[in-house]
Amino acid sequence: MKVAENLIHIKQQIISACHKVNRTPDEVKLIAVTKYVSIDRANEALEAGIINLGENRDEGLLKKWEVLGDKPIWHFIGTLQTRKVKNIIDKVEYIHSLDRISLAEEINKRAVKKVKCLVQVNVSQEDSKHGLASQDVLNFIKDLRAYENISIEGLMTMAPLTDDEEQLRTCFRKLKELRDQIKNCNFDYAPCTELSMGMSNDFEIAIEEGATMIRIGTALVGVAGEEE
Ligand SMILES: *Cc1c(COP(=O)(O)O)cnc(C)c1O
Repeated sequence: MKVAENLIHIKQQIISACHKVNRTPDEVKLIAVTKYVSIDRANEALEAGIINLGENRDEGLLKKWEVLGDKPIWHFIGTLQTRKVKNIIDKVEYIHSLDRISLAEEINKRAVKKVKCLVQVNVSQEDSKHGLASQDVLNFIKDLRAYENISIEGLMTMAPLTDDEEQLRTCFRKLKELRDQIKNCNFDYAPCTELSMGMSNDFEIAIEEGATMIRIGTALVGVAGEEE
């Protein structure tokens, strides 16, 4: 399928999910996750009108950045090793995976302008997932006050791999509660308005629960070898 065709379908799903809960589709930023696909396919997404691209590894981001440059707004969505920060810092607008102070320190040190970060939370407490435990997030964000080049734009999570709708909803709801709690603290360096949650299999539920950024790979650009 062409990206443009997938996009029509996904936009309809975004609209109907928003409609269900009285939100407007403008509140939901669509990030096309291009980690599985070629540079050509990523470019096709841009030509279809997508603005935000997400990559989860520095190598993948760099390869695509060499060709696409600053045409898209780049989101780094994967686990970020501290020593890789310098490779991506001047290319990305958002880092969705801030999960430790040592990483914040390095981002702050290497920043060429204010870096928009989201704190990754392991809401579902799965050992396999990165991110802070929910109960540690507020203190972690308080500790980020010292880093003047970092702005905490919101929270990010990956839901458990399940078809159980209630389990997914609970996860997204918990992230939103936590986001609201931090937002209400009114820290000037942490507006914390964004909720990055929802992927190919669960983005409609995520939108119903308040997502402001959805990260979609498979359903939008496909996976390698199945792009057409
Ligand atoms: C791969 C990935 C996605 C997209 O996953 P799909 O199921 O292909 O939509 C979203 N977020 C993160 C952090 C990812 O690594």
